[in-house]
Amino acid sequence: MKILVINAGSSSLKFQLLDMSDNESVLAKGICEKIGLKNGFVKYQNYKGYEKKFLVHLKNHEEAFSFVKNLFLDKKYGVIKHLEEIVAVGHRVVQGGEEFSKPTLINKHLISIVKKLTPIAPIHNPANLHMILACQAVFGEKFPQIAVFDTAFHSTLPPKAYIYSLPYEFYEKYGVRKYGYHGISHYYVSNECAKLLNKDIKDTKIITCHLGNGASISAIKGGKSMDTTMGFTPADGIIMGTRSGSLDPGIITFVCEKNNISMHDFNKIVNKNSGLLGVSGVSNDAREILKEASLGNKRAILAHDIFCYQVMKSIASYIAVLGGCDAIVFTGGIGENRFEYRNTICDSLSFMGIKIDKNLNKLTVDGKQAEISDGESSVKIFVIPTNEEIVIARETLSILKRIRV
Ligand code: ADP
Repeated sequence: MKILVINAGSSSLKFQLLDMSDNESVLAKGICEKIGLKNGFVKYQNYKGYEKKFLVHLKNHEEAFSFVKNLFLDKKYGVIKHLEEIVAVGHRVVQGGEEFSKPTLINKHLISIVKKLTPIAPIHNPANLHMILACQAVFGEKFPQIAVFDTAFHSTLPPKAYIYSLPYEFYEKYGVRKYGYHGISHYYVSNECAKLLNKDIKDTKIITCHLGNGASISAIKGGKSMDTTMGFTPADGIIMGTRSGSLDPGIITFVCEKNNISMHDFNKIVNKNSGLLGVSGVSNDAREILKEASLGNKRAILAHDIFCYQVMKSIASYIAVLGGCDAIVFTGGIGENRFEYRNTICDSLSFMGIKIDKNLNKLTVDGKQAEISDGESSVKIFVIPTNEEIVIARETLSILKRIRV
């Protein structure tokens, strides 16, 4: 049972081919980056230990997919003999709105809704649609493709968490509400955390911190998302690589008038030129920021401080939302690797009895999973590398089994 998992971004395409009948093993995986640009490349590796970076100008997502498909079938680098060995494709789809609260078989209706939701996720949904259509072109229209939504996990949010304090008609007419994102990741790490706690997920209160280029934090009770920092769009919440996170709404008209720019331009600024990059003026990358900060760059230090401060504030408020907390989980590129950030964040929560083991924390990087709390800590702290692909593959398989009955 070979299942292909696709995660398309605006100029990237992550892929993983898994054999779900054989211990959920990964046959091949990789990423196409800078799609549309001359300096594009594809990183590819297979289960035989073969690893290569191809420098290739891929004009669009269709070309990228065709390149990947040929790699799968290649005599030297390939992992399958015929395309028919792949039984289904699972797609990460970012915005599914209120209609899709669980993984769904892709059909014309789903495609039209994902298209309709594009204004809320203008970077992600079009890329997801492109890839769905590219797969249809290769595998045929009747071939099972499944959408696993980033928003679905947060469909359990109570109205008091998802309704904005705007005229209620904006929600009714336009669907303006908190949707939340990174749901596949929050779902995966919270379930792994319950296993590590040796508890039924139904009996847990967990705060998951997905800290990458995009970053969000979720309060999860009994396996259900109760609140999350991202909102109507993925620009809301805490400071991110290039996204501002939450802002005073008054800033929008003020800056647009001062700089004589449109709302559209402002939206670009809050998504592309803000966050760690905007504050530090150095980079959106936490590695670069830390390097500059260690050299005494004041704005790099400030960007780092803001990041840790906002994560700390979110965790503390979510402990109140949950009425206590069994565990805090760190995941995502920063959460999994930047022990300095985890240190600062947890130290600032020490007044609650939250205590990190500095040594364990430092050792837990590069995809390692571990508990990093001190034995005396009031709340357990874990680093759990996320695995959105395995969730998508499992959900795809489960739907495939249902439709084949
Ligand atoms: P995305 O949200 O685009 O998936 P990632 O989860 O890959 O992003 O996170 C990117 C961030 O994680 C960057 O700020 C980067 O500095 C940091 N990061 C990723 N890998 C490492 C690593 N091995 N060591 C230190 N920092 C890392």
